[in-house]
Amino acid sequence: MKRTILVTGGCGFIGSNFVRAALERLAASRIINLDKLTYAGNLENVSDLNGHPRYRFVRGDICDAETVGRLFGDEGVDTVIHFAAESHVDRSIEGPEAFIRTNIFGTYVLLEAARKSWIEAARKRRPENPVFLHVSTDEVYGSLGPDGFFTENTPYDPRSPYSASKAASDHLVSAYHHTYGLPTVITNCSNNYGPYQFPEKLIPLMIINALEGRDLPVYGDGNNIRDWIHVQDHCEALLAVLAKGRPGETYNIGGNNERRNIEIVEAICDILDEKLGPLDAVRPRRSLIRFVKDRPGHDRRYAIDAGKVMRELGWAPRFSFEDGLRSTVDWYLQNRAWLQRIVDGTYRDDYDRMYGWR
Ligand code: NAD
Repeated sequence: MKRTILVTGGCGFIGSNFVRAALERLAASRIINLDKLTYAGNLENVSDLNGHPRYRFVRGDICDAETVGRLFGDEGVDTVIHFAAESHVDRSIEGPEAFIRTNIFGTYVLLEAARKSWIEAARKRRPENPVFLHVSTDEVYGSLGPDGFFTENTPYDPRSPYSASKAASDHLVSAYHHTYGLPTVITNCSNNYGPYQFPEKLIPLMIINALEGRDLPVYGDGNNIRDWIHVQDHCEALLAVLAKGRPGETYNIGGNNERRNIEIVEAICDILDEKLGPLDAVRPRRSLIRFVKDRPGHDRRYAIDAGKVMRELGWAPRFSFEDGLRSTVDWYLQNRAWLQRIVDGTYRDDYDRMYGWR
């Protein structure tokens, strides 16, 4: 089906991977990438798409109702894939306001624009089969003990300002479906890793610090468990949900790869030692690991039961974690200029403060 897709946050980590995958896979569809270019948005992530006949970038804020409304009206948007968000838990603890604004109010602005254009508009101006796909996180479910998995029926129990703002946005999306009949679908996905991830997140942060011989700060005892999925597997799952997901439904997406944080940091050290040699004759990179004061409210374990999306939509993750981590380390090694420009860029002060890089 030929769609006009508004992707929000398409210059970020997952959004940029998705735009690339969607242009390739949805050959008849047009993509409009609406991104504010916050510290996490990087036009370089999509620079290879400049000039693509079915792609257009618009710099703008999802909280700006006029910009969003104009895009729906002028472009005939019939599909929304909503990634734009403030996404880093540590930043939400330091300053929740931007999270409340973008993640909650921004989602509301998009929902209102969709409602006006898809539900309230005169019948002949309404698009056929519109879809509003809201991309969310498993962090809305809170923290698990040693056993069990998050399912689509797990009660919400967010613990950080980030997860609380995402939970609020999920509830709004669901309310627009129940109240106005907006054809929404929600996906809750586990931790992503892969190319183009901003180097404040665990895996790229550890890669860059280990490359440069800097300390590798690990929260608490390092035994917090996350369920990791390669970003390209996540994007494939989103394409499956777009094609076959049922309005009003939620789909949990995960890679079935539970790992303790410390295991991941050690694996990155070992891969880099193997590829580049140790730091010097007596120091393997594991010697850079430092346990630091735990993050307040740090959730202990996340694990996703992705059975529904696998059974109902026929999706399955393709990357093994070991191969995915190796290819991710390779990508960062091959794209050191990309990494360096971020580190040298305007975010330098934040990096200094949060990670002691200079
Ligand atoms: P990211 O921080 O890398 O990218 C966010 C993008 O949104 C950036 O390009 C930024 O410029 C843009 N943006 C932020 N505020 C905006 C605004 N007000 N208007 C327009 N654009 C704005 O995030 P990510 O890791 O790619 O995550 C994307 C989405 O997926 C988020 O909604 C996040 O909650 C969700 N998610 C992420 C993960 C993960 O592991 N990264 C897991 C599950 C779900």
